[in-house]
Amino acid sequence: MIHTDICIIGAGPVGLFAVFEAGLLKMRCHLIDALPVVGGQLAEIYPQKPIYDIPGAPAIIAEDLVNNLMKQIEEFKPGFTLGERVEALEKQDDGSYIVRTNEGTDVHCQVVVIAAGLGSFEPRKPAVEQLEYFEGKGVHYMVKKPEQFRGRNVVLAGGGDSALDWTIFLADIASRVTLVHRGDTFRGAPDSAEKVYDLAGKGKIDLILQAQVNKLGGNGVLKEVSVLGNDKSVTTIPTDDFIPLFGLSPKLGPIADWNLGVEKSAVIVDTFDYSTNVERIYAIGDINTYPGKLKLILCGFHEAAIMMQSAFKYVYPDQKLSFKYTTVNGVNPF
Ligand code: FAD
Repeated sequence: MIHTDICIIGAGPVGLFAVFEAGLLKMRCHLIDALPVVGGQLAEIYPQKPIYDIPGAPAIIAEDLVNNLMKQIEEFKPGFTLGERVEALEKQDDGSYIVRTNEGTDVHCQVVVIAAGLGSFEPRKPAVEQLEYFEGKGVHYMVKKPEQFRGRNVVLAGGGDSALDWTIFLADIASRVTLVHRGDTFRGAPDSAEKVYDLAGKGKIDLILQAQVNKLGGNGVLKEVSVLGNDKSVTTIPTDDFIPLFGLSPKLGPIADWNLGVEKSAVIVDTFDYSTNVERIYAIGDINTYPGKLKLILCGFHEAAIMMQSAFKYVYPDQKLSFKYTTVNGVNPF
């Protein structure tokens, strides 16, 4: 069991900045994200896009903003559980909560902050026979720990940046890497595509274009994939791990089952302090809704600041909070 003051569901920009606002009030945070990396939409959808509306930063690349946010909260030593999806909230007799993930991680906290953006990013699953049967037995939709593929026969499928990047990365780790792509050109960065062609040209990986994995086989664990060419040819490849990378799409998922007021896939909050209809549960960033809501990073930052002042009473019920600037002695973390 992990113990913390505030458990933040979602490590997007708003969840990350919330750690800073909590830290100024001496409240510890633990963040949980379904993605294996921090940054939310900025990391998953547009890492290289410039953002022009962050106050004080005339133009900043999304990835750099995430790195800066991580640096800004480093001092407060937040905990992270990445690559796990929050499934359930369990209220305790004293009002505190246990937040539980799909992998059985439990976080005990006084306050829950939902900073879940558009929801949890779920993998898009291709139509492959036996795909779901082999989940956890050789099928992976994300690469969480590349080392687990050392010395194994890995088949990846997809034509975007993730498929290209992981093909390049795993070429040095796996015993054999095969990339299967249904087109004959890639959607991912031209530079990465170039590297993949180069690895294939040198015989370091196998590249199968104009084809798709259509069937998985094995006996309890994955043993082979069948590849159907656009020309109807069929090839069977001995495989330990199959990694289909066809992107992720956000889903509200379990949040819809937590008895919160929800409107159009967003959690209704009181703009006084961004609290939900359930005591000790707040919602900030893209996941919330209220009259006039704008889904912008800077609005989420504002909501985080207000919300943490309100959450203070649950973490320090015997203390009175008085507002101070970060430059005041005892508040300044640096
Ligand atoms: P997110 O960034 O969505 O992060 C939420 C995180 O919560 C995700 O990582 C998700 O995996 C996780 N999560 C959700 N549910 C669960 C669960 N049950 N368990 C575990 N984890 C969970 N905004 C601007 O201000 N300026 C811009 O220029 C701008 N450009 C944009 C361009 C594009 C193409 C897009 C799509 C958006 C843009 N936005 C822009 C909007 C901005 O990205 C969002 O406002 C911002 O990402 C919201 O941050 P967040 O932390 O609330 O949520």
